Amino acid sequence: MKIGVIGAGQLGRMLALAGYPLDLQCRFLDTSADSPGGKVGPIVTGAFDDPASLERLAADVDLVTYEFENVPVAALQQVAQSRTCLPPVEALRVSQDRLLEKQLFTRLKIPTPPFRAVDSLQELRSAVSELGLPSVLKTRRLGYDGKGQRYLRRPADVAAAWEALGGVPLILEGFVAFDREVSIVGARSTKGEVRAYPIVANTHRDGILRVTLAPHRHAALQIAATKHLQRLLRHFDYAGVLTIEFFVRRGQLIANEMAPRVHNSGHWTIEGAVTSQFENHLRAILGWPLGSTEPVGHSAMVNFIGTMPERGALLALPGVHVHDYGKTPRPGRKLGHCTIVARTAAERDRLARKVLRLVAA
Ligand code: AMP
Repeated sequence: MKIGVIGAGQLGRMLALAGYPLDLQCRFLDTSADSPGGKVGPIVTGAFDDPASLERLAADVDLVTYEFENVPVAALQQVAQSRTCLPPVEALRVSQDRLLEKQLFTRLKIPTPPFRAVDSLQELRSAVSELGLPSVLKTRRLGYDGKGQRYLRRPADVAAAWEALGGVPLILEGFVAFDREVSIVGARSTKGEVRAYPIVANTHRDGILRVTLAPHRHAALQIAATKHLQRLLRHFDYAGVLTIEFFVRRGQLIANEMAPRVHNSGHWTIEGAVTSQFENHLRAILGWPLGSTEPVGHSAMVNFIGTMPERGALLALPGVHVHDYGKTPRPGRKLGHCTIVARTAAERDRLARKVLRLVAA
């Protein structure tokens, strides 16, 4: 069977790798022929909104999926006319707009930070007077990894943030002084079967995920996160993997955003869970039984950003699995990651500290 994947980044590449044992072949659409997916499957090169390129991808596959959020909705709708396209286009549409996303969370009784839509400096001033400072101004669309956002700490920051971001639709969010950040990754198949992975603890720097620790054992948070995930999955009549990122404050979950796709905070599942998020995504969109989401030990995932640490030193550490996406290094670029799997959390933490020293070297 052939799966068309819109986007040939590292997520697409890991999807293709998960498909190999099941005799599933991925072919990609991407703007660049030397994207990470190109090493494991053919790439149709073209713009994501170019009807002819999309047609070429869809013509030769049984099913189409996507691996990044900024696929134009109209393009996906076009593909969906001739091929099954999952996850549903509606989930992509909502996830592309932070305002729609938070409005949906609110409707589904999933707590979020307080928020206001902002389209002018005047609206920003009144939103700030309602939500108070500190707060966070974000572009509604095309924001990821902390891009397109400004923290407002003092009244003087308001005009400067407007100057930097204004001119496109914005959202102001109350600043959450969180105790930690967690996420949940789960899958729903076209048959309605749902499986959720254990919640994981994430550390970001400069808005980019650095480290994930899995599982983050906390029974009450696990129950709440799974309930929120199930509500979203049902709402969209979803098929595929879906992720929700949360802040945790005083033992309560506050949803920051969702991603209708496999997610960086789920990379640990390749070696750290019975079935990886990538395999479960494929099983889910094909309507196959989902695999167990149980962890097989204690895992840490460390992202390699901007530079790759020395490979030999990493591989010399027991229980460390290296993933090199084969990208040209650039500051702030995700080049690879490693997953550490250990029998105990203490052993995992000890190895993770060693990896982090190599990353800093
Ligand atoms: P995002 O692009 O929305 O995923 O934000 C990236 C990171 O910025 C998050 O993981 C948080 O660490 C931080 N952040 C975003 N929104 C808020 C908020 N409302 N309050 C506090 N921190 C935030």
